[in-house]
Amino acid sequence: MMFFFIVGLNQRVTQVLKSRAGKCTRCGSSADLVQYEKVLRFYFVPIMRWPGKEPLMKCRDCSNFFPHSFSPVATTACQSCASNVDAAFKFCPFCGSSI
Ligand SMILES: [Zn+2]
Ligand SMILES: [Zn+2]
Repeated sequence: MMFFFIVGLNQRVTQVLKSRAGKCTRCGSSADLVQYEKVLRFYFVPIMRWPGKEPLMKCRDCSNFFPHSFSPVATTACQSCASNVDAAFKFCPFCGSSI
């Protein structure tokens, strides 16, 4: 199947929206929330590119792309009450202290 060696479709990250926004669904490493574009290549030459519809998560380790909704939310432990809190929060919803 020569076709697949000549023409390839890649996903390329154009902008990191939020670093370490979640975890990889495949290997569990930190994943970034990224804006991406799709690039169609012909003999390694990009011939067409168009932006992705919505941001995706991209793993730092295995370069796995997956939808944000698939990712478990990154959590951090509250300093005061030791609850698991969404890492994006500035204040603990359980005890109200800053994180
Ligand atoms: Zn991964
Ligand atoms: Zn707390």
